Amino acid sequence: MKRKDYRQMLSERVETTFSEWQTKDVITESELYNFLHMLKGTSGTIGMEALSIFCSSHLEILSLENDNEIAMSSLTNFFDKISSFLEGMEENQVIIPVTYQQRFDEEVFFLIIDDDLEFVSYVKELLEALGAQVVIALNGRRGIDQFYSMRPNFVLIDLFLPDMSGFDVLSKISDTAMARRATLMVTSVDQSKENRIKAYENGAMDFIGKPLDLEVFLPYLFNRDKMRKTVGKSIITDGLTGVGNRKYFDEAIRHHAELSDRSGVPFSLVMMDLDHFKKINDSYGHPAGDEVLRKLCEVINQEKREVDQAFRYGGEEFAILLSGVQAEKAAVFLERVRTKFNALIFEEAGYSFSVTFSAGIAMYAEDTDKLISTADQALYEAKRTGRNRTVIFDEKKSLAKRKLHIIIVDDDILVREVLQRKLVEWTSPDIDITVETYANGPAFLEADWYSPEERYIVLLDGIMPEMDGLEVLGRLKKNEEVEKNVLVSMMTARTSDADIKAALWLGADDYIMKPFRSEDVLARIQQLASKLLN
Ligand code: GH3
Ligand code: MG
Ligand code: MG
Repeated sequence: MKRKDYRQMLSERVETTFSEWQTKDVITESELYNFLHMLKGTSGTIGMEALSIFCSSHLEILSLENDNEIAMSSLTNFFDKISSFLEGMEENQVIIPVTYQQRFDEEVFFLIIDDDLEFVSYVKELLEALGAQVVIALNGRRGIDQFYSMRPNFVLIDLFLPDMSGFDVLSKISDTAMARRATLMVTSVDQSKENRIKAYENGAMDFIGKPLDLEVFLPYLFNRDKMRKTVGKSIITDGLTGVGNRKYFDEAIRHHAELSDRSGVPFSLVMMDLDHFKKINDSYGHPAGDEVLRKLCEVINQEKREVDQAFRYGGEEFAILLSGVQAEKAAVFLERVRTKFNALIFEEAGYSFSVTFSAGIAMYAEDTDKLISTADQALYEAKRTGRNRTVIFDEKKSLAKRKLHIIIVDDDILVREVLQRKLVEWTSPDIDITVETYANGPAFLEADWYSPEERYIVLLDGIMPEMDGLEVLGRLKKNEEVEKNVLVSMMTARTSDADIKAALWLGADDYIMKPFRSEDVLARIQQLASKLLN
């Protein structure tokens, strides 16, 4: 619609009002006030400034509260004057800035709650021309409904509405608007201090005077929109890597699940974790570690499709949601990431190094918690079977009971027997437990007890005649492969802090003081087991 058409609409509305009034002898002062109030706002907005000023000057001497009657005969000149404004002004001064550079994204959504039809149609067309979506409510009730159902980003509320005041609308939507980060703007011809105070008190974020000055209004809107986007983004983004944060992941996985439940479209979850990342930090420092995290995300972003979403799940663990993708295809994607990432050479203080990651993949089937835990299990499997690889979760394998060996190394036969008897009492539905004992360190170290597929808890006596427990521990932990599959608890009568420290320093995962009650030892071992098997 051209601006001229808005003038046409306004003229017709004025004429209708006039001819309605002609049938009466008198009108009330408040009727006239309302009419001029509308005319002032609309005419100013569509570029008829002289008419707008004319209305203003009359509004100053009229009152909305006054029920004085005004004789129609006294208004003849006044109406003629308004008509001449409407007829006389041909082509325009300024207004729709068609050449305006900036555009809104199409997801920017305005709700205008205002009953001045000319005004709202004009603003609607303008905003739509700039790329936004706009809906209109001609009264407060409808405006509130639309606010809740349509979730607009911006709400422009006229203070003067047929069924309630703009303040009432504000007070009913402002908390939710705040939570949704929607901007509430109030607009009115009456920019009195009282009105502005009351608007802000009721939750308005801005008070926009009518007539609307578009040269000011538009840059203001774009500015607000930029703020909204920046804040929105920072809330869901991990600061270091720029991928989604954990909070966003929790939301996104639920969203994916809902979508999949409705549409039947599958999706995969990838969990990935850097290999031996602690050593990278220890050797090259945390800033170098941070750079590795950033680079990994860079590679993921380069390789993933637009629809896939990457998140920082925890410290050096990342999650990727791949919609419409089966596990095998997710594995192909991961191999592309792996090739690119492993080839990166990092430099730090004259040293260069490269890094690898392990990954687990699972596919969604009706439960998001289960999806996360199965992808995690697959990731653990990838770690356990050598790292720098991807494992797809396999239901059949996971149903097999997991094996846990408990090994007691103690020269005291009484300790071995008491503990063994207690531990064989422990039965678990999903863990297969066996107990072995050794009477001294060398016998244990030389025996062929280790298999990389299985998990072990070793209860190691601190003082033994052939070889001291600390020494056994030192030799055991020299074997790097053993590190993740074997937990060692030192049993020591020595209460000296130094011995405990030495044991922990050598890599003991826990210690138990002698003498002990066998129930306590069992409880402790069950704790260790849950750590080891999860
Ligand atoms: P694995 O191969 O079994 O995963 O061994 P790992 O060393 O990678 O695993 P572990 O979980 O023992 O260590 C993770 C390390 O990641 C420890 C922690 O200091 C480091 N880390 C976590 N968040 C950050 C971070 O934001 N920056 C840096 N530089 N390091 C981090
Ligand atoms: Mg790691
Ligand atoms: Mg980790």
